[in-house]
Amino acid sequence: MNLILLGPPGAGKGTQARRLMEAHGIPQLSTGDMLRAAVAAGTELGKMAKEVMDRGDLVSDEIIVGMIAERIGEPDCANGFILDGFPRSEAQAAALDAMLAESGLALDHVIEMKAVAAALVERIAGRYTCADCGAGYHDRFQTPRVEGVCDDCGGATFERRADDSEATVRSRLAVYHDQTSPLLPYYRAKGVLREIDGMAGIDDVTAQLDAVLAGENQAGRND
Ligand code: ADP
Ligand code: ADP
Ligand code: ZN
Repeated sequence: MNLILLGPPGAGKGTQARRLMEAHGIPQLSTGDMLRAAVAAGTELGKMAKEVMDRGDLVSDEIIVGMIAERIGEPDCANGFILDGFPRSEAQAAALDAMLAESGLALDHVIEMKAVAAALVERIAGRYTCADCGAGYHDRFQTPRVEGVCDDCGGATFERRADDSEATVRSRLAVYHDQTSPLLPYYRAKGVLREIDGMAGIDDVTAQLDAVLAGENQAGRND
């Protein structure tokens, strides 16, 4: 099963991709996580990417497409993958199509997580993750069961992203609107676009995704 989760920053892509990964045993491929790993490792790519990410702009298509091409070829992707944060531009979508065609693969679903901009700023401003295992939390919407302790791994160190400031979020939302939202008609025309309500509660969103994956969401089909 090859999926794309498409939606603005804060729509819940990472949260749901992690759940899908656990439920279906296929990896979450997050270009944002890959870039943050490069930043943390202090590589040349990381140094270049950090500047772009802090501005809320997109890292060049060439770099991103190269990262994904390499990742999709790894053995754990043999049964499928969940793309989270990729593609983000028409050039990336075209490159993905070419990559998939070359390997005889296809996209099963492109799922748009719809969310209203006003709520996204609050989602992103309150976002933090476990530094040990990457589990995602929110100051209000998703707190650990025991305060200060990660539900998943018991870790006690948490981190916030440098680019999750209100000013950067506004430019990221504008970039989504300008460069990523044109992918919606692109995938709609291919008949693979499904739409879910990303403003619902986290468990409800998971249930909507499960329905799409089970093929029960014909009424929600967008083609
Ligand atoms: P994205 O990967 O699309 O940028 P995340 O999955 O990181 O978004 O979610 C952004 C923040 O909002 C996180 O702190 C997460 O815990 C929280 N969140 C995710 N989904 C929901 C939801 N359906 N309702 C409320 N908060 C949510
Ligand atoms: P979000 O919570 O906004 O969905 P991500 O973790 O997906 O955040 O991305 C963080 C930043 O990393 C983006 O603002 C952008 O600078 C860079 N980035 C991530 N994925 C891509 C991509 N596919 N193309 C270009 N830049 C990307
Ligand atoms: Zn953890």
